[in-house]
Amino acid sequence: MNKKQTNITPSEQNSLLRFDKEHVWHPYTSMSEPLPSYLVESAQGVHINLASGEQLIDGMSSWWSVLHGYNHPKLNAALQEQASKMSHVMFGGLTHQSAINLCEKLIALTPDGLDKVFLSDSGSVSVEVAIKMALQYQHAVAEKKQTRLTKTKLLTVKNGYHGDTFAAMSVCDPVTGMHQIFEQVLMQHYFAPAPTIKFGEQWSADDVTELSALFANHHTEIAAFIIEPIVQGTGGMRFYHPEYLKACRVLCNEYDVLLIVDEIATGFGRTGKLFACEWADISPDIICLGKTLTGGYITLAATLCTTHIAETISEGVASCFMHGPTFMGNALACAVANASIELLLENDWQAQVQGIEATLNKLLTPLKNHSRVVDARVLGSIGAIECKQNVNVAQIQKRFVELGVWIRPFGTLIYIIPPLIITTEQLVALVNAIATVLDEDNCFSK
Ligand SMILES: *Cc1c(COP(=O)(O)O)cnc(C)c1O
Repeated sequence: MNKKQTNITPSEQNSLLRFDKEHVWHPYTSMSEPLPSYLVESAQGVHINLASGEQLIDGMSSWWSVLHGYNHPKLNAALQEQASKMSHVMFGGLTHQSAINLCEKLIALTPDGLDKVFLSDSGSVSVEVAIKMALQYQHAVAEKKQTRLTKTKLLTVKNGYHGDTFAAMSVCDPVTGMHQIFEQVLMQHYFAPAPTIKFGEQWSADDVTELSALFANHHTEIAAFIIEPIVQGTGGMRFYHPEYLKACRVLCNEYDVLLIVDEIATGFGRTGKLFACEWADISPDIICLGKTLTGGYITLAATLCTTHIAETISEGVASCFMHGPTFMGNALACAVANASIELLLENDWQAQVQGIEATLNKLLTPLKNHSRVVDARVLGSIGAIECKQNVNVAQIQKRFVELGVWIRPFGTLIYIIPPLIITTEQLVALVNAIATVLDEDNCFSK
């Protein structure tokens, strides 16, 4: 593999990495025995450039967020232009063109009926906002009807992931979300089994039997139902049947429960539709957006709801929605988000996603037959290999870097979700690297 000349000397690299290892937390990582971190000097297009000289093809889009590649001239220009005017002003009492234009775009692009936008700083916060909206809505409804408030719980499905803050964590899968650690402080909600009928399989209404029973038995307590549409991401890259999501919409209507759809991972084209809800042709009452919203540049999230929810909340006792982050509507983030959405629409994202999907179907799906593999599946720009054993993260990561790719597996899953601009040749390199490590015993636990 070709190593590049870099600007950080080997001794500087060592001292930076030593400090990092001793003092800097990384996501889901032990501080006493941290997994190795690789020092990045720059990133360009589909490449992540390590300070040690390796140039890696990015298979992760920096946790699903990058769409058009790193260091994109148009996104850079949008940031610079905004910074030259102002980077941020408080959103209480003040507003600005970048935020307004963004909200206008989000309303136009998202499923029908989502007409009020609440901007926030991260995906988890947008979920907190969605949950708070649902609870405050039900409070206002009970108040209006002069009935006792009973709808104070949430319903969701197992294997879900909605973020790391407390309300979001309370609707994550109880096992992988480590609920036992926080049992005493987490809000207790209802969990239905995860959808089992896969995308593309034959549908049967049996898949919603238990879910329907939970609605029937507990609807008087349930404020909202929350779900990731079509793809359960962090919970295992499970692609489920659109009819399941349709059934969720029907049940929510029948039992007067709000439907919150978490499109943080699936939004903006990833699954082959602009929003995964479109596979089921439904509109939620509340939608959460994040990750790809700024094309991977800066943290920004949005929660959209219906006019009915917004008006009901506003007519309640508080006469307003009780939330307002300091960096709400950050101008730099909104400016990049606008530019990223414009690029997405200009670039024929559907053709990009279809190209990735076709290549992955041809090359990744056949890995299903490998002796170490349980399943290989593809949807839009997402490809996942489920293995029989857990991966050895440190070893498999090291091998991927040696093979010139950046792929970060977890548990039994090796998955890729590359930037939409990836070429077929680069995609082939990602899949070949996966095929190579599948043959290496030391990349997996015993
Ligand atoms: C990543 C993710 C979140 C949390 O977003 P953060 O920006 O990491 O807080 C929530 N829901 C889903 C479906 C996600 O994939």
